[in-house]
Amino acid sequence: MNIIFLGLPGSGKGTQAELLKNEYSLGSISTGDLLREEVKSQSSIGIEIKRKMENGELVDDDIVIEILQKNLSSSSYKNGFILDGFPRNIAQAEKLEIMLNNINKKITKVFNFIVNEDIIIKRITGRYLCSNCGAIYNSFFNKPKVDDVCDKCGAKEFDKRADDNKETIINRINIFNHSNFKIVEFYSKKNLIVSVDALKSVPQIFEEIKSSINN
Ligand code: AMP
Repeated sequence: MNIIFLGLPGSGKGTQAELLKNEYSLGSISTGDLLREEVKSQSSIGIEIKRKMENGELVDDDIVIEILQKNLSSSSYKNGFILDGFPRNIAQAEKLEIMLNNINKKITKVFNFIVNEDIIIKRITGRYLCSNCGAIYNSFFNKPKVDDVCDKCGAKEFDKRADDNKETIINRINIFNHSNFKIVEFYSKKNLIVSVDALKSVPQIFEEIKSSINN
């Protein structure tokens, strides 16, 4: 089972990926996370990546593809994977087909998370993460049960992503809108697209995704 999640940043892909990963013992691959790791490692390429990410621009295809390829070939993903944040354009979608062909894998479903942009802006600007376990919270919609204490691991330190601000998100939404419909079309032709109403609650969406997978 190799799954792609498409959707605007803040559409809930990360939350669902975490749930699905645990339910089916899948690997989860977020190209955004892989790029953030590269930035942290302070490699020479990390500086260029950081600049693009902070402006809400896409990182060059060659760089993202190389990082993804390394990850795909170094991890076994025995039961399959969930790919979040890739592809972001048709060139990446085509390259992904080739990469997967080479390792005898293919995409089995593509979930397209649909949500309106006003909600996205609130979700993104309010988003923060537990520094210890990465659990995702939101200052508008989803605070921890006890203020400033992570529900999952009890840690008291939280981080905010550098690109989760209003200026950057508008750029990220524009870039997404420019290319996502072509990606949806690409996978529609292969009968792989499943639309997800990302305004529904987290458990409702999770049930819908599971029932689509089980069918
Ligand atoms: P995300 O965590 O998916 O919201 O991605 C955060 C940022 O990482 C994006 O705004 C881009 O700068 C970069 N990024 C993530 N995935 C890709 C990709 N597939 N192609 C190019 N840039 C990407």
